[in-house]
Amino acid sequence: MTTNAQASISIPQLRNELAGEVIAPDDPQYDGARRVFIPLYDDHRPAVIVRPADAREVGYIVALARETGLELAVRSGGHSGAGHSVTDGGIVLDLSLMKSLEIDPEKRIAWAEAGLTAGEVTNATAAHRLAVGFGDTGSVGIGGLTVGGGVGYLVRKHGLTIDDLLAAEIVLADGRLLQVDSERNADLFWAIRGGGGNFGVVTRFKFRLHPLDTVTGGMLVLPATAEAIAGFIAAAEAAPEELSTIANVMTAPPMPFIPEEHHGQIVMLAMLVHAGSTEDGEQAVAPFRALATPLADMVRPMPLPEIYPPDDPEYRPLAAARTMFVDSIGYAESELILDQLTASTAMMPVAQLRVLGGAMARIPADATAFAHRRSKIMVNVAAVYERLDEASVHEEWVTEFADALRQSDHGAYVNFVGDEGEDAVRASYPGETWDRLAAIKRRYDPGNLFRLNQNIPPA
Ligand SMILES: Cc1cc2nc3c(=O)[nH]c(=O)nc-3n(C[C@H](O)[C@H](O)[C@H](O)COP(=O)(O)OP(=O)(O)OC[C@H]3O[C@@H](n4cnc5c(N)ncnc54)[C@H](O)[C@@H]3O)c2cc1C
Repeated sequence: MTTNAQASISIPQLRNELAGEVIAPDDPQYDGARRVFIPLYDDHRPAVIVRPADAREVGYIVALARETGLELAVRSGGHSGAGHSVTDGGIVLDLSLMKSLEIDPEKRIAWAEAGLTAGEVTNATAAHRLAVGFGDTGSVGIGGLTVGGGVGYLVRKHGLTIDDLLAAEIVLADGRLLQVDSERNADLFWAIRGGGGNFGVVTRFKFRLHPLDTVTGGMLVLPATAEAIAGFIAAAEAAPEELSTIANVMTAPPMPFIPEEHHGQIVMLAMLVHAGSTEDGEQAVAPFRALATPLADMVRPMPLPEIYPPDDPEYRPLAAARTMFVDSIGYAESELILDQLTASTAMMPVAQLRVLGGAMARIPADATAFAHRRSKIMVNVAAVYERLDEASVHEEWVTEFADALRQSDHGAYVNFVGDEGEDAVRASYPGETWDRLAAIKRRYDPGNLFRLNQNIPPA
């Protein structure tokens, strides 16, 4: 924390002018408030953490960052893998007090403030038997997830989260609050559907909601043989669009429902969600159950919110990770995955495989700033480890693993890119997408005020 930075901000004045919370370094709640999901950034000490009460106060904090020149970190749920929602010496704009949610069950829309989490919105809409798809983790903020795209359990049935985004309200670098949709400020509306936090602070999202009652979903744990992994991918590709899957090939955690002899062994821990009738769900899940005798089978009819296990605020893993898309995972690629996982020295090495397609793939690639519409399978390789001094070994391992698995698709999903440098950001925005985003950035944030993100520089 630099004294200069503190000198340029008057904490009493901020407290006087804002109805939200202003947390300074000498406040007892400061250490808790600067913490984000990834512990790698625990040494970052912001000059101030401000939790605005409303969009006007968001504008006030944006102006403060502009005027002081201090680095601005925008935080919704704090799950950025690159640590972008905390700054060392700058201002954290933490949206966590802004959680209003207006659901119109008749029109099937929701206006959701950006401080809400995926779990909070999913719970509230489920009360009306409605849903919008987010990701696989309830505590992830709808702010970061939505502006990056949003790939989750309804991706094949309803597309990405942004495919249900109808409008948004956004505070720009110059402090203006704009409404954006397909007609008003359409360039900006295009850019915030995948372009991340580069263009402003979204204060509210308007989502389309889909009728959804019970899903057939849950965890299916299978032995991780090359046959079973390749079979799983083939079954996921052949499955009806109602079914979306996430297969984690990984060392089995000591969960009580996994037989003890498999703890620490490599297994396939898969999550399945079928958003259709219970009867169709049973049928859709059958080919996966038939791949091998399951080590655990918890797939059952359930309300969608139950797919999110209860949050454990103490779970903050150290992890090295790489994200990519691949064209196919057959027997040879499955063997490669198993060999790589076996060679890792990490506490928990993981290859996460998500078969895409369906509704997501029917949107034209240039319709949103998320342009990977034709990508077949998203893969995240990760090493969850215990001590900071192990980091370099695991960074090297994930890089090698990703290089070995890479095929013709050189794209990356921005929401899973870590602190990896410009190439990974460029890979997130292939072809003309990058140039179009850079032009919009020039128009709305020429000074690059919003730079603590997977940055698209204006020049
Ligand atoms: C455990 C875990 C599971 C995940 N699972 C999935 C998944 O299944 N599917 C998926 O798609 N992604 C997933 N992600 C990735 C996740 O979508 C991104 O990390 C996302 O950025 C997190 O959003 P957040 O609001 O929690 O993060 P934050 O750290 O608060 O924000 C991240 C960045 O997003 C931008 N941002 C945040 N809020 C706003 C806003 N209101 N307006 C403008 N910009 C904003 C800012 O640039 C900020 O730096 C997962 C991440 C984790 C850690």
